[in-house]
Amino acid sequence: MNHITRTKKTLKDLDNTDKQFKEKIKGMARTQAYEFFKRHKGTYQYNTTETKDEFAKMNHKRCSFCTKYISDFNTEMTIEHIETKSSCPEKIFQWDNLLCACRTCNTKRGRKKYKADVYLDPSKISDIEKYFCFHMDGTISANKALSKEEINKAKYMIKLYQLDREDLNTERREFLNSLLDDEMFRILVKRSKESPDIHFLSVFTYYRRRTENGK
Ligand SMILES: [Zn+2]
Repeated sequence: MNHITRTKKTLKDLDNTDKQFKEKIKGMARTQAYEFFKRHKGTYQYNTTETKDEFAKMNHKRCSFCTKYISDFNTEMTIEHIETKSSCPEKIFQWDNLLCACRTCNTKRGRKKYKADVYLDPSKISDIEKYFCFHMDGTISANKALSKEEINKAKYMIKLYQLDREDLNTERREFLNSLLDDEMFRILVKRSKESPDIHFLSVFTYYRRRTENGK
């Protein structure tokens, strides 16, 4: 994972929807409010052009978790609710509860509940990169140099989004192997974070840091 700068505090349309929705679910129990949302999905929306545009900018068209470049961002990007829609319907339209994700990371999380004490929100933790290590075989692990508490957080995030899944391991291995070519590495260093050639931003930042620090 990489740090994401949430430049806007709120989004105009989303904020309006949030206000209208909260008004409607006032006094309802959680399950009732969630049912209301499901019945009125067409009226109350969070995956709009406004949110898509903002996520494309702030996430460099990448998944917030595996950091993979989402090539068809407009159709393939999904909205991830940090506190899930069913467990916290009052935050369904709250901008700081939303992150963008690739379809797979989003599906892997499913409805697994949010644990505030261990969840690492990339838009809130500026040094989030330090939590993870990437290995040449494509696997990911928690950084063992950190405190026990920090390691637990990294492990929780890996498990929550299944960041150690086989498809990611394979793709990361291929990407890491391509970086061994010095010429390729030099080219990518000059590219912007939006470059599709930087397949996984987190892997690239990690590899670059290690290479430039003399491994
Ligand atoms: Zn992902």
